[in-house]
Amino acid sequence: MKMEKAAEGPSAFGSRASPKNVWEDGLRRGKLLYQRCTRCECAVFFPRVLCPACGSDQLEWQESCGCGTLYAATIVRSSRSDPYNVVLVDLAEGFRMMGTVADVRDRDLVVGATVTARVAWRGDNAPPVVFDLT
Ligand SMILES: [Zn+2]
Repeated sequence: MKMEKAAEGPSAFGSRASPKNVWEDGLRRGKLLYQRCTRCECAVFFPRVLCPACGSDQLEWQESCGCGTLYAATIVRSSRSDPYNVVLVDLAEGFRMMGTVADVRDRDLVVGATVTARVAWRGDNAPPVVFDLT
């Protein structure tokens, strides 16, 4: 994904759109969006109305390049499903998000490994963003 500023405004939902709706609209368009506070410049994720660092409501949407490093990884084993991994990834823009790494052996899930985000949103309970090892 190319680093670019997301379209001005909250797209098709109008000015009263919730941050979650704007984020999901980005996923529908294949974009991983996050917010940046224009007052303190901190990256904000999951989407919010107010900056958690300074309380400002001046948050602008930006598109992530999708490049990140694994901060943590775990394998979930359940009798109700095949094992799957859950990871926390630190994105290059300075925010952390949860996801899963696709098609990977457990032993390759090493903290610090570099990954690239891929939007895989289907509107169901599956992870909306999948990471691939790079
Ligand atoms: Zn702030």
